[in-house]
Amino acid sequence: MSSHSSPPRRVLVADDVESMALLMKRVLEREGYSVETAADGKDCLEKTASFGPELVIVDIMMPRLHGLDVLKRIKADPALSTTGVIVCTAKSYKPDEELALAEGAFAVIEKPFRPELLAARAREFFSGMRAGATEGALPSAGAGSGLYSPSFDENRAKIRLWGTRGSIPVSGSRYARYGGNTSCMSVERGKDMVIIDAGSGIRDLGIEVAKRGPARIHLFIGHTHWDHIQGFPFFLPAYIPGFEIFVYGASGFGKDLESVFHGQLDSDYFPVQMEDMRAGLEFRRLEENPVTIGDMKVSWEFTHHPGATLCYKVETGGKSACYMTDNEFLKGYLGDPRAAETDAELLAPYRKIMDFVADSDILIAEAQYTNEEYRTKIGWGHSSVSSACLLAKLGRIRDWVVVHHDPQHDDFFVEEKLGLMKQVCRHLGFACEIRGGFDGMVEYLD
Ligand SMILES: [Zn+2]
Ligand SMILES: [Zn+2]
Repeated sequence: MSSHSSPPRRVLVADDVESMALLMKRVLEREGYSVETAADGKDCLEKTASFGPELVIVDIMMPRLHGLDVLKRIKADPALSTTGVIVCTAKSYKPDEELALAEGAFAVIEKPFRPELLAARAREFFSGMRAGATEGALPSAGAGSGLYSPSFDENRAKIRLWGTRGSIPVSGSRYARYGGNTSCMSVERGKDMVIIDAGSGIRDLGIEVAKRGPARIHLFIGHTHWDHIQGFPFFLPAYIPGFEIFVYGASGFGKDLESVFHGQLDSDYFPVQMEDMRAGLEFRRLEENPVTIGDMKVSWEFTHHPGATLCYKVETGGKSACYMTDNEFLKGYLGDPRAAETDAELLAPYRKIMDFVADSDILIAEAQYTNEEYRTKIGWGHSSVSSACLLAKLGRIRDWVVVHHDPQHDDFFVEEKLGLMKQVCRHLGFACEIRGGFDGMVEYLD
C-alpha cells in the first residue's frame, strides 16, 4: 500500500441497483477511499456496523428498508454520531429532499448525476465543509437536444365510434365498458367529416360538432332500422343555422330516406318537426360509388340484411376502414366454417360482400350471435360468430373491431364472445387482432 500515515477513509455505498452501486464504488475509489457496497437497506445497516464507514451513500428507494429509515437509524444511533449520510434519489420531489436534510443528511444528490458531483460531495464532507442543498440531476436530462413536446397532428384520419350497440340502446353498470348507444361512427380528415349511421350515439357527436361551429356534414345511413336513425332528432347541428347536412342513403329503402326521417319527426313521435330544423338539410340518394369528400372516398355495397342495407368503406391516404354493422353471412349455415371455406356454391351469393370487405386495414363489423344463439335467429340479418370469422378470414382482415353488440350481451358476455371469436379464428388457422368496439373508441387510419 501507500506510505500515507492515515488509512483511507471508509465509504459505504448502498444501492439495490448493482450497476449503480459499482459505478459509485469506482468513482469513490478513484478518489482514494476504501469503498464497500450494500444491496438494500438492511444490508446497509449491517455493513455500517461491521465496516464502520465514515460516510454512507444511501439510495432512497431500496428494498427491505427504505433509505430514509436507514438515515434515521444512523442518526438515532449515538455510536454513529459522526457518520455522514448522503442520500441519492431518483425521486426529485422537494418534500423527500427536505425530509432527508431535516433528518440530518449531509447532502441530497439527484440521479442521474455526474460522477464528479458525488466525488465533490464526498470531498466536502471529509473536509468538514457544509454541502449545498440538493444538487445533481444532470442539466435536465437531455436539455442539449431541446424539449420534446409532440403536438397532435390534426391531419391524421381519425375514426371515432359513438355508438356500438345494435337494436336498442342499453344503460347501466353491466354495460359500462362497451357502452349503450346505438350505431354511429365518425371519420375525420382535416376539416372534413363523414358520419356513418345516426343511432343514439350521434347525439354525443352532435354536441361536439356544434361546439366547433357551422360546417358541412356528410351523414351516410346504412339502413333505416331504428338503431341506425333514432339519434337524428337529437343531433344538435341540425337545429343550428349555418350547418349544412347531407344525408345519404341507398335507393331501395321502403320509403325514400327523406320520408323516413320526416316520419320519425312526426308530431305523434316527437315534439319538434323537421321543419324546425334550421340547418340546411339535403337528402341524397346514393348513385355514384365512391363518393368523394375532401381527401376521403366513401364507397358502399349492399349487405345481407332485411331491407336495403349498406355497408361502407372509407378510404384515405392509401388506407381503408370498412364499416359493416348488419350482415348475415352464410344465412342458415350451422356447420363447421372450415367446410364452408371451400364450398364455392355456398359462398357464391356472398362474393360481392367478400370482395368489398377484402383487404380493409380495419374492419369495423358485427359478429352478433354466438353459434348457439344463431340457431334461433336465422334470418334476423346478423351473422353467427363463426360465419363472421370466416368472412374476416376470406377478406384477409388483420384488424377487426367488433361492433353492433346485442342488447342482451352485457360486458361480461361480450368479453366471453370475443374470446370465443379468437378461438374460432385459431380453428380457422386465421391470425387477426380482434377487439371489442366501445362507445368513444378512437382509431387512426394512418
Ligand atoms: Zn342494426
Ligand atoms: Zn337492421
